[in-house]
Amino acid sequence: MANADSRAKAAGQPAVDVLVVGGGVMGLWTALFAGRRGLSVCLVERARIGAGASGGLLGALMPHLPDHWNAKKAFQFDALVSLEREIAVLEAETGLSAGYRRCGRLMPLPRPHHRDIALGHARDAEAVWGPFSFEVLDAAPVAGWPAAAAMENGLVRDRLSARLSPRGLAAALAAGLARLPNVSVREGTALVRFDPAAGVAHFADGGRLAFGDCVLAAGVASFDLVSALGPPPKRPVGMAVKGQAALLRADIDPALPVLFSDGLYIVPHDGGFAAVGSTSENRFDDPFATDAQLDDLIARARAMAPLLGDAPVAERWAGLRPKAIGRDPMVGRHPDHARIHLMTGGFKVSFGLAHALARAVVNGLEGGTPADVPPSFRVEAHLLEADRG
Ligand SMILES: Cc1cc2nc3c(=O)[nH]c(=O)nc-3n(C[C@H](O)[C@H](O)[C@H](O)COP(=O)(O)OP(=O)(O)OC[C@H]3O[C@@H](n4cnc5c(N)ncnc54)[C@H](O)[C@@H]3O)c2cc1C
Repeated sequence: MANADSRAKAAGQPAVDVLVVGGGVMGLWTALFAGRRGLSVCLVERARIGAGASGGLLGALMPHLPDHWNAKKAFQFDALVSLEREIAVLEAETGLSAGYRRCGRLMPLPRPHHRDIALGHARDAEAVWGPFSFEVLDAAPVAGWPAAAAMENGLVRDRLSARLSPRGLAAALAAGLARLPNVSVREGTALVRFDPAAGVAHFADGGRLAFGDCVLAAGVASFDLVSALGPPPKRPVGMAVKGQAALLRADIDPALPVLFSDGLYIVPHDGGFAAVGSTSENRFDDPFATDAQLDDLIARARAMAPLLGDAPVAERWAGLRPKAIGRDPMVGRHPDHARIHLMTGGFKVSFGLAHALARAVVNGLEGGTPADVPPSFRVEAHLLEADRG
């Protein structure tokens, strides 16, 4: 706190060790770990916690395939394994449920060659997935989940995949932050600009805050914030990819595995719900509207999972995924601005990675160790890509 305090004194304004911008899953885990470490933290969120992509419906936690193992797959594997414990700690602290369950995943195999490939993956998994199996089955463990017609060549069952409730997790993380006296959360406060050298942030309401470190976890808005830090890049450092999903009120066993087939996810949740998703739209008029593409997905889900029957639709939802130019998360210290750190670009997999990325970023605060993440995640890798033109 000493550094931030002295800077603030000079500028005659309040100060924190760490300013976290964005109240989505990336910002919340970062603020929690920084706060648990005893740093003074302010999380600012322009709307409300979970207002962005993190306030959605699906929460599938799906691993990469176990073939061609590399640093990125290993990082994600470790993150998916460690998330269970992180959530257990958070739930014990707060008394809230994040709706987490290691439920596994079923993937129908429609063609004979899909089965051959899956058998190869099953062998790969034995080498790299530790206790978690990836097996090829002839029939669904539970009839109607999925439909027999969808899996003429059997199906895969993996025991590593899991799910959580996005809104449950956001609420639990917010409650975890509320317990820490050194952390403040300011909703309805948008960062409008900041001076990375002086360590001063300016907000839409006219307020200012001095910071030791600033973590940009503003989802799709992070890309403009990072672009403004240097000469304009030749290409955008990231983009928004719209997704639509629905929540069905379904009388199904909440322990059922996630179903995944050809971009369609069906995710059972606690309390008699199943989420269905997701579209992936690079072009769109209204980021938050749902349309006929979602109707098609829901129809596909009913055909894929007869157990859903005519379960009524409880909610339709759309949001914007942050996709960085390199496709991987954009995480860690900015190469030219030592106090600025990125926590964005989780695209379709943020929920399984955010806690592990947050730990890496928090280790790098106060001039600490640069985030220990796969090279393709580093901010400089994305900036290089954007400057390639
Ligand atoms: C339909 C759909 C389904 C998905 N399914 C899954 C899934 O099953 N599993 C999975 O892992 N991922 C999934 N994702 C992706 C996941 O939701 C995102 O990757 C993740 O939520 C991104 O989190 P974030 O914290 O980076 O961004 P966000 O959740 O978008 O949070 C960013 C926050 O920053 C705030 N903000 C922006 N600008 C400012 C500013 N200037 N000042 C202050 N605050 C600001 C915003 O209001 C927002 O709340 C899905 C996404 C969609 C759209």
